[in-house]
Amino acid sequence: MGSRPSRRASVPTGEAAARRFGAKLRAWYRRHARDLPWRRTRDAYRILVSELMLQQTQVSRVIDYWHAFLGRFPTLHHVAEAHEHEVLAEWSGLGYYARARNLHRLARHVVRERDGALPSTPAELRALPGIGAYTAGAVASFAFERRAALVDTNVARVLGRVFAPDLDPKRPRDLKRLWTIAEAIVPRTGKAAWVQNQALMELGALVCTARVRRCGACPVRASCRTYARTAGTAPSGRAAQRRSESLEPKRGKRSLIRGS
Ligand code: SF4
Repeated sequence: MGSRPSRRASVPTGEAAARRFGAKLRAWYRRHARDLPWRRTRDAYRILVSELMLQQTQVSRVIDYWHAFLGRFPTLHHVAEAHEHEVLAEWSGLGYYARARNLHRLARHVVRERDGALPSTPAELRALPGIGAYTAGAVASFAFERRAALVDTNVARVLGRVFAPDLDPKRPRDLKRLWTIAEAIVPRTGKAAWVQNQALMELGALVCTARVRRCGACPVRASCRTYARTAGTAPSGRAAQRRSESLEPKRGKRSLIRGS
């Protein structure tokens, strides 16, 4: 019988490169991360609300809505007890109202079936109404510090550029491959996984964006296959800085690839 394959065997650049990538990324996050209010809590309901609001919406818009919504509905029980139109009224102006309807539906389900306590594993979270693979991973990691992977559009872009530039996240088979890479690089402890997942999203929002690659300021360029292929052609240094500043209003908007 052969030996068990390494849990990082799915990383195209190998285990050592994946470890270096993670260590550099987490160190960068500790120095450069934005201080966002949902990063200061481990309350699952508060984190769930932030994750739903951040879908398709810029961070700067979400902050005020998040505080106001939690002021009006401090717990999942409060959402469950409200009428849907009251939840929608508090969401008014944020757009994508299916998110608010889903939250209301989920709140009633969780209060009825689980006395209002959200579960902690990605599989249990995924089984709840309106929760996709990304949101399940995000709540498991950010609220419960589980060793959970997550892939949203930002993370898919970063992992693709670093490890597998030929993959196209819009193709289901390639997206599945990116999930496999994400799962293979999750650190061994839940605390480190929390930092690394936040860092992946932060890098995708601030440095390795859809519109510009700030490779000159990127902490993981030594591990990056796209950088190795395009060094000297990708915008970097001052040129990237100027371009990045011109794109500032677009920063931080999170979108999901599908059903998350
Ligand atoms: S080196 Fe460039 S392409 Fe690679 S992850 Fe960093 S910003 Fe993105």
